[in-house]
Amino acid sequence: MCFLISMERLAIAFIGNLPLIFNFISMRFPLPLTLQIAGHILGNQIRGRKKFATVLQLEPLHTCNLTCTGCGRIREYSTSLKDVMPLGDCLAASDECGAPMVSICGGEPLLYPHIEQLVAGLHQRKRIVYVCTNGMFMRKKMRDYLAVQFQQNPSRTAWILEELVAEELLTPSDAEKIRSGTLTPKHPAIAPHPRFYWNVHLDGLETTHDIIVERKGVFAECIAAIRMAKILGFQVATNTTIYRETDPAEIEHLFEMLSHLGVDGHTLSPGYEYDAAKRDMADRLGIDPAKFFLTRKATVEKLKNAVAWGKRYPIFGTPAFLEFLAGQRELPCSAWAIPTRNVAGWKGPCYFMTDGHHATYRDLLEKTDWSGVGVSDGKANDPRCENCMTHCGFEPSAALGLAPQPGDLWKIIRFNFGPKPNPSKAKPRVTLSKPPHDEPARIEQPASL
Ligand code: SF4
Ligand code: SF4
Repeated sequence: MCFLISMERLAIAFIGNLPLIFNFISMRFPLPLTLQIAGHILGNQIRGRKKFATVLQLEPLHTCNLTCTGCGRIREYSTSLKDVMPLGDCLAASDECGAPMVSICGGEPLLYPHIEQLVAGLHQRKRIVYVCTNGMFMRKKMRDYLAVQFQQNPSRTAWILEELVAEELLTPSDAEKIRSGTLTPKHPAIAPHPRFYWNVHLDGLETTHDIIVERKGVFAECIAAIRMAKILGFQVATNTTIYRETDPAEIEHLFEMLSHLGVDGHTLSPGYEYDAAKRDMADRLGIDPAKFFLTRKATVEKLKNAVAWGKRYPIFGTPAFLEFLAGQRELPCSAWAIPTRNVAGWKGPCYFMTDGHHATYRDLLEKTDWSGVGVSDGKANDPRCENCMTHCGFEPSAALGLAPQPGDLWKIIRFNFGPKPNPSKAKPRVTLSKPPHDEPARIEQPASL
């Protein structure tokens, strides 16, 4: 009996890991990535490791071009906004924790001066890379990519440039600069790759999103960047944080609109009530934080349709995590599985709370009293965890099968291996038709590091 239970847990872990990851073919997630994560989880479990990293949250800097309402990062690290992690430290963090997936966030990661080399170095390590961006510099980075491509494959790229100008995603003057070579970067550019995703921050439709990020025009720029990325063959995901004022119907409209653009998937998380963000909200904006952040009860009320959303939209979340958000089950927190490394060190105990920074991931694992934080059986072990139901704390628990229930295995199989939901029903326009003089595409090789 015990053997069967542990086999079921292993199987859940094997298949369930994937919601941390993504889609290929018409499946919800790409099979090779599923297998890579599955291998990582199984390998650790066979070695008897109880705690290990599945996703590294890498914050190479906290500088940002925006000042979103509710952002804890730019407030908590306001005194070190100019600091950046050396490239070597970023790659060493990935090597040390071994997580197969690296989410490069911040701050705005596209402001990191070595972002191209970082992505290339992570690809060399076979990591699955997510660049979590506010979208404002994506088109600039894709212009760099086009400039490099033009040098390698001029006739095909010239044709793509014309199409992008016609779609008003590139100005005629930038197209000319790409053709003349004046925009060609000195470093490698970020290129489409099966292990690479743009992960664009979108908290609602245009009016809502622009209010939250405190700048008009950001939503429109994100949509232009997503359109351009899909035309160029990039994989694109979006991440949405749910707040007290979020209208669930608006999030449904957002997902439907994004499906028309060919977006590959979405992550979803309730907002966490950072102390620094709450202080900023009260002092700078005069907003009562209780009117902005969700309690557990309010999260469950707001996300009561989360399970149905998982069936209707390509959400990257396990069915168990979506049931948790909808209040249908409890999960323990497993913050150790998504560690955060930033300019100050390994943030402990978790992505949200800061009791200190550790020199190594191992130190974070060994010196943290994990029984003193998180949530067990629905009860907070630390008052700061009371209202947390976030992706960073609970998605790994679901993915690792830490609190399995009968029927989980079948749900996960259906979720991961069933057809990918396509709410738009229409075929999205994600690629250009064949150019007149098609040349074989060349794949840009990452620079040696
Ligand atoms: S874009 Fe991200 S890092 Fe920048 S202020 Fe907004 S939430 Fe914070
Ligand atoms: S529940 Fe987990 S992820 Fe959330 S604040 Fe507590 S320790 Fe961090």
